[in-house]
Amino acid sequence: MLGKLKNISLSNWILIGMILGLLTGIILNFFVPDSFFKNIILVDNIFYLGGSLFIKLMRMLVVPLVFCSIVVGAASISDIRKIGTIGGRTIGIYLITTALAVSIALIIGILIQPGAGLNLSAVAQSSNVTLNQTMTDTILNMVPENPINSLASGDMIPVIIFALLIGVILAKLKEETEIVGNFFAQGNRIMMEMTSIVMKFAPIGVFCLMARTFAGLGIEGLLPLGKYIICVLIGLAIQAFIVYPSMLVVFTRLNPIRFFRKFISVMFFAFSSSTSNATIPLNLDKLSEMGVSLEVSSFTIPLGATINMDGTAIMQGVAVMFAAQAYGIDLGLSALITVIFTAVMASIGTAGVPSVGLITLTMVFNSVGLPVQAIGIIFGIDHILDMFRTAVNVTGDAICTLIVSFKNKSLDVDVFNGKKEMDKDDKVLLDDLSII
Ligand code: ASP
Repeated sequence: MLGKLKNISLSNWILIGMILGLLTGIILNFFVPDSFFKNIILVDNIFYLGGSLFIKLMRMLVVPLVFCSIVVGAASISDIRKIGTIGGRTIGIYLITTALAVSIALIIGILIQPGAGLNLSAVAQSSNVTLNQTMTDTILNMVPENPINSLASGDMIPVIIFALLIGVILAKLKEETEIVGNFFAQGNRIMMEMTSIVMKFAPIGVFCLMARTFAGLGIEGLLPLGKYIICVLIGLAIQAFIVYPSMLVVFTRLNPIRFFRKFISVMFFAFSSSTSNATIPLNLDKLSEMGVSLEVSSFTIPLGATINMDGTAIMQGVAVMFAAQAYGIDLGLSALITVIFTAVMASIGTAGVPSVGLITLTMVFNSVGLPVQAIGIIFGIDHILDMFRTAVNVTGDAICTLIVSFKNKSLDVDVFNGKKEMDKDDKVLLDDLSII
């Protein structure tokens, strides 16, 4: 019996933790009356502690892991032009998929009218923040003024840019900077090892997160916002199960069902933890199993977890339509185009941690003068949507990585199709890491 349990892989344990947590939460919510033990001891202390501790441990890993893996990834691509091509393609696909995601959300919002009939106050508070300012700020903020400061405060885009520069320079100077190169390579190994240790707690962490969420989720709170929730879920489903698979087929001819079968555990993990950042190690691991070279994924996945948030963009697009309809504000075509632009910028500015999408939503609302108070209305139910959208966010990163590595000839299609084991070097590395 114990032997059998030992054979269960970590990704299956995560799934088991998620399902048990979900069931525990639902049972507590609907069948166990409120009491000091249930509300305070169990939900607010034990589950809260278990879940938050796990998320904190994962977040502890993010800055050093992303920093080292990007330095090492960029340094290992010896040809600077190759970094340019990979980078250009990756960022291009990230931006296009996000713009597409917001557009889908806006169309759904126009068709289903999630905010119609809510009749919130008609006094729209317009904002003096212009699109120009927010976009300029977003671009300026990408360059670190003080890299140490960015590292310390976990500002991911400046961190990524600084790490990329170091990696490119290491590749250029080769032997001259061998010691520093080795330092980062070993730093990367240490962070991967630390990740694999923290990941062992994932099933318990995921259990606590799910149990707490569902124990406290009042169904009554969901009902008035039912249409809004449904619109976001439809948008997410279209993006995940129509847009992404079509892209995979059109650009790579790979089988999407095969992809989802392998990738589902990463989606579950992102779902339970609501953080793309914490999902980075798992995502890297699964993509390697699919035949993607770490050379590409170690760059595209951390970058995607930071700037590519298609799920978040969908929530923001629907939220815009919801607020506009609820406040009786008519958004014209130019306002909708502004929303697409700012939502793409907001996606870049959204950190891959829980609930940040709501914070950057203010930027989108401001750009078209929607009252930010409306965000307060959807605040209460956002956690559940955050789970779904994070699963879509990480799927977008993986699909884009598959496409880029396919175009770049760093994807082993035979490995993806299960005709061959993954590359020896990568396998040795992954076996060492034993993340999953
Ligand atoms: N939780 C999301 C993520 O980590 C970000 C958000 O939309 O709040 O990908």
